[in-house]
Amino acid sequence: MSSVTFIERLARIPHYSAGADSAEAAARQSETVVMLASNESPFPPVDAVVDAVRAAAGEINRYPDPGAGTLRRALADRYDHPLPGIAVGNGSCELLLAAAEALLEPWSEIVYAWPAFSMYPHLAAATDAREVAVPLNDRYEHDLDAMAAAVTEQTRMMLICNPNNPTGTHVTSEAVGELLERVPPHVLVILDEAYIEFQTNEDPDASLELLRRFGNLVILRTFSKAYGLAGLRVGFGLGSEEFKAAVDRVRQPFSVNHLAQAAATEALRHQDDVARRVEWNVVERLWMEEQLTELGLEVADSQANFCWVALGDRDESEVVGALARAGVAVRPGKALGGPGFLRVSYGTRAENERFIDALAGVLG
Ligand SMILES: *Cc1c(COP(=O)(O)O)cnc(C)c1O
Repeated sequence: MSSVTFIERLARIPHYSAGADSAEAAARQSETVVMLASNESPFPPVDAVVDAVRAAAGEINRYPDPGAGTLRRALADRYDHPLPGIAVGNGSCELLLAAAEALLEPWSEIVYAWPAFSMYPHLAAATDAREVAVPLNDRYEHDLDAMAAAVTEQTRMMLICNPNNPTGTHVTSEAVGELLERVPPHVLVILDEAYIEFQTNEDPDASLELLRRFGNLVILRTFSKAYGLAGLRVGFGLGSEEFKAAVDRVRQPFSVNHLAQAAATEALRHQDDVARRVEWNVVERLWMEEQLTELGLEVADSQANFCWVALGDRDESEVVGALARAGVAVRPGKALGGPGFLRVSYGTRAENERFIDALAGVLG
C-alpha cells in the first residue's frame, strides 16, 4: 500500500465489469476459442498489407512521421476531403478522448444516446462534463428528436454512433442531416461511423456529403473493423481544420506508429477486400438472425458486424458463463448498458455455428 493520492474523478471513470473479463478469460482457456466479443474481423489482413508492415519494420529505429502525411493524403484521396481537416489517431478512441479534452469543460454538457459505445461515458467522467444520455427508442435506435431536444446553451458535444454499438441499428444520413439542421453551430457533432461500411441501407459514403453542409460535424471512422486492422490501432476523423488542430494540441505527437501508418495506407488500396468482408458479413448476419430467431430469441435490426440479442428472462451471467465454458466469448449486455442482452460479433461460419450450438445447449 502506498499513500499516493490519485485525482478525485478517477473513481468515476467507468471500466468494463470484471464479469465480462472473467468470461472472456475462461473462453481463452478453451483450446479452440471463438472470439465473438470485440467486433473484430475474423480474417487476417491481405498479403499486401502484411508485406507493407514487414517492409516498414526495418525502419522502426526512426520515429514515425508525426504528420502521418502519406496516410492522410491517401485518406484525402479516398474520402475526397481536404487534407487539413483530416486527423488520424491511435484508434478512433484516441480521437474521441482528444476531442473531449479539447472541448469539454466541467460545466459543459455532452449528449449521446444510451446504450451506445462504452467509451462515451468515459469522456464525461474524464473531463467532469455533465453527461446527457438519451435512451434509445424501443427498436434500439437513436431517438434523434429527443437528442435534438436535449441540446442546451451548455452543450459542447453530441455523439451519434451509427450503426450503433452495441445494438447494431442504423439511421440514414438523411435523418442525421435533419438532426444536424436542428443542432446549433456551437455544438460539435461527432458521427462515429466505426461500422458504417457494414450497413446496406445506403451508400456507406452517403454521410460524407454532410461535411460540406455542416462545419460543426466530424465523421469518425476506423481501420479496426471493416479494414480488419484492430491490432494496429488506426482511426481517422474527417472534419474542419480547427478540429484537427485542436485534437493535435492535446495529445502526444507520435501517436500513430510507423507500422500502423504503413498498413493503413496499403489497406486503402484494397477496397475490393473491404467489399468482400462486407459481403461476407451480410451473409453471416442473415444466417445468425435466422438461427437466433429459430431459437426463439429476439434480435435488434443489425446493420453492423454483430448482433444484439435479447435474453428475455434468462440469467445473463449464467448464459455468458456457459458460453465461455464452451469456448465462446461474447460480450454481456450488462457491461454495455443493456442488462439482459448479449452482443455477439459475427465470426466465420464455423465460429458462428459453434456459438449457435453452444447457445442452443445453454437454452436447453
Ligand atoms: C470499435 C469502435 C471504435 C473504434 O475503435 P478504434 O479501434 O479505437 O478505432 C469507435 N467507435 C465505436 C462505436 C466502436 O465500436
